[in-house]
Amino acid sequence: QATVERIAAGEVVERPASVVKELVENSLDADATRVDVAVENGGVDGVTVADDGAGMTEADVRAAVREHTTSKIRDIDDLEGGVGTLGFRGEALHTIGAVSRTTIRTKPRDPDDGPAEGTELVYQGGEVQSVEPVGRPAGTTIEVAELFFNTPARKKYLKTRATEFSHVNRVVTRYALANPDVAVSLTHDGREVFATTGQGDLPSAVLSVYGKEVARAMESVEAPDLDDGPLDAVGGLVSHPETTRSTREYVSTFVNGRYVTSKLVRDAVLSAYGGQLAGDRYPFVVLDLSVDPGQVDVNVHPRKMEVRFSDEAGVRRQVHAAVEDALLDAGL
Ligand code: ADP
Ligand code: MG
Repeated sequence: QATVERIAAGEVVERPASVVKELVENSLDADATRVDVAVENGGVDGVTVADDGAGMTEADVRAAVREHTTSKIRDIDDLEGGVGTLGFRGEALHTIGAVSRTTIRTKPRDPDDGPAEGTELVYQGGEVQSVEPVGRPAGTTIEVAELFFNTPARKKYLKTRATEFSHVNRVVTRYALANPDVAVSLTHDGREVFATTGQGDLPSAVLSVYGKEVARAMESVEAPDLDDGPLDAVGGLVSHPETTRSTREYVSTFVNGRYVTSKLVRDAVLSAYGGQLAGDRYPFVVLDLSVDPGQVDVNVHPRKMEVRFSDEAGVRRQVHAAVEDALLDAGL
């Protein structure tokens, strides 16, 4: 039984960044208006995610750590394209808790949902260690320590502090950009790396995450004539061709507000820059494509976010046109 759980855990929890991803998704699903992520030593020595979301009652939190328990999925149709919440498998907390010491402190936002105090539940190696009342404001704080304490083989695969932190940073950055109306912060070993204001607009989120120099170099993408293709809208920001980095990781694509990876979209974006990018340089791009969920297929594997479109040529054409227009409008 323990072996099965640990193998399953490897599917969801590969490294600290996977823990961060699952916890941040849960906070967003709980309608948080702020999500604070703090990691120690790249996340290897600890990950804490605090939110002011819906919170949980004692019964909720006991259920939350059970296998395949979710409060989110309503029917199997939710699994197809139209998924409204980010998590739906009901396995993240259970599997994270199977390979760490996880402490959940939570209190429901809705005062009708139970007593005035909150609940602290400690879950370690797949077992509930303790459940106690705790004083705290509404919302949820989840602390994951001793990651992979009982799976030394997996622990051995963890990389350096810098590498693990760069994965964490990438994950938190994506959710911050995808949710400009949520105040998202990231702290590493006690130092704040960035904090968005939750003001609601993408330019202010980009300013907080990437800094002034990049924010100033951004042009907004407003979808041109989009009648002839699968996309209903293309929005976002693209940087001037001279504001670049030597990695593609700053080209972020969202479909209906969800982070995805798509080589097709990335290539269409880069082709719109024509020959303007210096060799091996990539722009800063944040694009959100609005599309009928029936036109996309998101691979639901926990670690992959690869998206496929039914009309690839149409998407390529529309993305290219939208980015090209933004650059032309800016006189570039
Ligand atoms: P899933 O997100 O797929 O439902 P998880 O294991 O990630 O599964 O979470 C289990 C359940 O715990 C969720 O369905 C939700 O009810 C509850 N939960 C987890 N994190 C939070 C949070 N930050 N705030 C409120 N409820 C939460
Ligand atoms: Mg989840």
